[in-house]
Amino acid sequence: MKGKSNISHLSSNRRSPSWKDKLAGLLPGFPENVFSAGFGSERARITLDSIADAVLTADARGLVTYLNPVAEVMTGWSFREAMTQPVETIFQVVDSRTREPFVSPLQRLRQPTPRSQPRDSGTALEYTLIRRDGFEYIIEDSVAVMHDPQGTAIGAVIVFHDITASRAAALRMAHLAQHDSLTGLPNRVLLFERLALAVVLARRHKKQVGVLFLDIDNFKQINDSLGHTTGDRLLQSVGRRLVSCVRGSDTVCRQGGDEFVVLLTEIETPLDAARISENIIDAFLNPHFIDEQELQVTLSIGISVYPDTDDIEDTAQHCASLVLQNADTAMYHAKLTGRNNYQFFQPTMNVRATRRLMQQNGLRRALKHDEFVLHYQPQVNLESGSIIGAEALIRWRDPEAGLIFPEQFISAAEECGLIIPLGKWVLRETCRQIRDWLDAGLSAVPISINVSSDELCHRDFSNGVRACLREFNLHERHIELELTESVLMRDVATTAYILGALKNSGIRIALDDFGKGYSSLSYLKQLPISTLKIDHSFIQDIENEKDGRSIVGAIISMGKNLGQRVIAEGVTNEKQRDVLLNLHCEAGQGTLFSPPLPANEFGALLGKKCR
Ligand code: C2E
Ligand code: MG
Ligand code: MG
Repeated sequence: MKGKSNISHLSSNRRSPSWKDKLAGLLPGFPENVFSAGFGSERARITLDSIADAVLTADARGLVTYLNPVAEVMTGWSFREAMTQPVETIFQVVDSRTREPFVSPLQRLRQPTPRSQPRDSGTALEYTLIRRDGFEYIIEDSVAVMHDPQGTAIGAVIVFHDITASRAAALRMAHLAQHDSLTGLPNRVLLFERLALAVVLARRHKKQVGVLFLDIDNFKQINDSLGHTTGDRLLQSVGRRLVSCVRGSDTVCRQGGDEFVVLLTEIETPLDAARISENIIDAFLNPHFIDEQELQVTLSIGISVYPDTDDIEDTAQHCASLVLQNADTAMYHAKLTGRNNYQFFQPTMNVRATRRLMQQNGLRRALKHDEFVLHYQPQVNLESGSIIGAEALIRWRDPEAGLIFPEQFISAAEECGLIIPLGKWVLRETCRQIRDWLDAGLSAVPISINVSSDELCHRDFSNGVRACLREFNLHERHIELELTESVLMRDVATTAYILGALKNSGIRIALDDFGKGYSSLSYLKQLPISTLKIDHSFIQDIENEKDGRSIVGAIISMGKNLGQRVIAEGVTNEKQRDVLLNLHCEAGQGTLFSPPLPANEFGALLGKKCR
């Protein structure tokens, strides 16, 4: 050997095999033997001809000196044809993304790139080899320049191989990781990436980014009633419709379940986001055609716009997650304000909605862990003081917060649908308790159960009540259902029908909090109501106010005329009781007689008189 040659890598894709080591091991004297004496070593030629990588060599002028068989197949040039052709004619390579021609080894030979300056700057570049007939391969390559002992470049070796298949698999994997498999839309991972980028661009271009958080109203019902296959098709159709409502540069993402997010890049003002939301709501007026059925769904949309206030200093990631969270909160608010509408995020929403969400999660847990209890408040005959009934009132025994009263959680339970299982629990627990008292030989008084509107209208409510009575071997007279005016007025026709069915099976209905609502008396007359409970706000007034007294008097006589039992709620002192007696009110409930009591304490009272 005359002296050692130096090999300096001009570039190398990071994943390329260590071909230099491979060849050096196989070919003693490599690489100088490739260039010396026109590739004289027979052994070197045989080895290069048999390896799986494509190998191409060029001399100092950039003219091809050798192609191995794999390189012949991949370039479409035979060794013979390629010899002495410029290397860039044979090895036609472009940047896969930009289609910029790859800087040929020839140029590199003339202007060698220092090693410290890599070909790419951070992002992994990908190269496409264009075969002579135009067919394209994605390749991974290594290019090295050979020098003689004096440091003069004597040629270059390019080793490359086809990675089209593995790249396609990698791309597919990347697509799967960033897209939702049902709708093919970007998923939350990709959305977040794009949102963070949009924040950066909005800062640079002094524009705004809008995020719409959309949730399909009542999707669960559709899914439950029509089946998951239909539900899935509906989600796909919703995705397509959303895409048709926005610009190509915007992103529609399936966030999960029935939630979608639309990212509006570079909007001028928040009004643009409002306008697009309106378009979306309008577009959803048209039904979706799924399995030959027409399904119409509405959306609740929350909007958040970046930049909002003082968040401009934060990292793009932080701003992105904040804007997304705010849009989610606003969507929740849109649900609260009647669905099928859009709401802009306001800072005050955050706390309320978050608290609400936490509470609903807590309620779910409470149901699972049996944290609810019923207390029973006696209803007494005002004249004799004997107990004529009781009202079952729910309490939540939270392990951390202690006893929580229904005013603090019933509406949250109604909002998220938990009122249905909760109501069933109340009904069953009351019936179980009555059976216990009866079995203990205590005198049975009717127990009133509060019923929410959603429960009443839930399918099979009256059958459920009857089944529960049967289960505990109780008579219809053992319970009474309390409904408020607002419950009765919500869906008049349905309510009248359900109440009729309940009455026919002998179950009594009490009208709770009477006077608090604004129901029409003539309408109430038509409903089968057995008991009228006068709201405590009227009782408060009767002590001093003459007017208050006459109103209560009118209610009492109206109830009596209709054959109803009248109970005054919230009787707190004797003066009130006396006035009520004078007005011929027969029954009362309130702290004057007893506060709501745990079951065992109420059981102890049964048979005794309350004052
Ligand atoms: P409500 O049905 O009108 O129940 C009477 C409420 O008045 C009870 O409040 C009771 O503790 C309270 N009260 C008792 N004595 C007095 C008094 O002397 N003065 C005054 N001002 N109030 C008195 P609570 O237990 O906090 O229940 C509040 C409401 O929550 C109930 O009003 C009812 O609408 C609802 N609720 C209670 N339990 C249930 C339930 O199991 N299911 C449903 N859906 N709602 C329930
Ligand atoms: Mg009640
Ligand atoms: Mg009441």
